[in-house]
Amino acid sequence: MNGSTLPLRGENFDIVVIGGGIVGLASAYKIMLNHPEIRIAVLEKEEKLAAHQTGHNSGVIHSGLYYTPGSNKARTCTKGRKELVDFAKKHKIPYEICGKIIVATKVKELANLETILRNGQESDIEDIEKIGPEQIKEIEPSCEGIAGIRVPCTGIIDFTKVAEKLSQLIEKKGNGNKVLTSHTVTALDKHDFFTRVVTNQESFDAKYIINCAGLQCDRVAKMDNVAPGMRIVPFRGDYYELTEKAQKKVKGLIYPVPDPALPFLGVHFTRTISGNVECGPNAVFSFKREGYGKTDFSLADSWDALSYPGLWKMFFKYWRYGLGEYARAFSRKLFLKQLQRLIPSLQDEDIKPCKAGVRAQAIEPNGRPIDDFKIERKGNSIHVLNAPSPAATASLAIGETINQIATDYFKLKE
Ligand SMILES: Cc1cc2nc3c(=O)[nH]c(=O)nc-3n(C[C@H](O)[C@H](O)[C@H](O)COP(=O)(O)OP(=O)(O)OC[C@H]3O[C@@H](n4cnc5c(N)ncnc54)[C@H](O)[C@@H]3O)c2cc1C
Repeated sequence: MNGSTLPLRGENFDIVVIGGGIVGLASAYKIMLNHPEIRIAVLEKEEKLAAHQTGHNSGVIHSGLYYTPGSNKARTCTKGRKELVDFAKKHKIPYEICGKIIVATKVKELANLETILRNGQESDIEDIEKIGPEQIKEIEPSCEGIAGIRVPCTGIIDFTKVAEKLSQLIEKKGNGNKVLTSHTVTALDKHDFFTRVVTNQESFDAKYIINCAGLQCDRVAKMDNVAPGMRIVPFRGDYYELTEKAQKKVKGLIYPVPDPALPFLGVHFTRTISGNVECGPNAVFSFKREGYGKTDFSLADSWDALSYPGLWKMFFKYWRYGLGEYARAFSRKLFLKQLQRLIPSLQDEDIKPCKAGVRAQAIEPNGRPIDDFKIERKGNSIHVLNAPSPAATASLAIGETINQIATDYFKLKE
């Protein structure tokens, strides 16, 4: 606070975007491209960009085949994927379209596998095909399955590098745009024709606000007097990685058949763009929104989650799955057992713990996890209230949607 109790008055901006993750940066980038005359600031509370979900994910460029055909998620994922690849090519960000396989290991998974295949075909995902046990072995010699789907257009990338490039372009090409880290937005003071955005360092006046605060988006919405109609519940995902010796057991990406009732894809094997192979993530309720350790705890975050009836309704519905995930989070043996479903030859000495990520899962008061992206408008603000996976893949398409909403709703000149 620079020694004073009131934050200093900083500059004026047309738009302040709250959150320097990939969704906030892609939104600012798209608005900058369409409205070069507009002055935008992106405010990020951490010392670096992409410090939370964007920098703690699997790094997979998703194809879009899992999602209900015609849904926002399906459309934006496919569109965003293509745009992301073009962006990576143009700006020389390393990526690889290595393809993936989804593998059924039990007869009871075959019906879900068929549904995913149908969804993919209806959504026009390029070149997907059903494969049998021999083809699974040809593609991934260490993997055992009874049937699968080959998805050639899936890829890998480092989303932090994408976020950093977006930030450079926003500052370089716009009309005095700024991307400011270490700026935590603490209050939004509404005035007739502007909002004073108060941060831990200085305050800014902005005509319009765009909330892309990820794990904190419901709290930022409340600062703006918007009742979000949902609450963010954090789910941590732990990853192991394969030792150098075991890395040869995975060539590309191997996924299980996900349970359609759950918003998570299941523990998978991912060859990353830096060359190692990660296995995970599981999905366990976290007692801290930005807590990456297994025992991390925040009283405020735990209270927010556990005092929410929606969370208890969800726990009640999925208690069996939740307990299983909890056990796997604390037992390496059980985690390994789950990995062995896809690669039976995997041994304890083949894996070592690596990183964790925390997902911002929006839950409705009735306990239903919100599946699709959720973007709300109110007053002079736009709030992104649910941007789960594949939002990193879809970020440029989500950014375009936000640009269109901002253009119409804020009446920005075309
Ligand atoms: C474990 C895991 C695996 C995933 N795997 C994939 C994948 O392989 N492919 C894929 O496409 N998607 C994946 N996702 C999803 C993807 O990472 C997210 O959907 C995406 O990163 C969301 O971006 P975001 O900008 O909304 O959120 P974030 O990246 O979380 O960014 C929000 C930012 O807002 C900042 N912020 C919060 N409050 C304030 C405040 N008051 N003031 C200033 N700044 C604030 C935060 O510090 C944060 O940097 C995964 C997610 C997780 C957690």
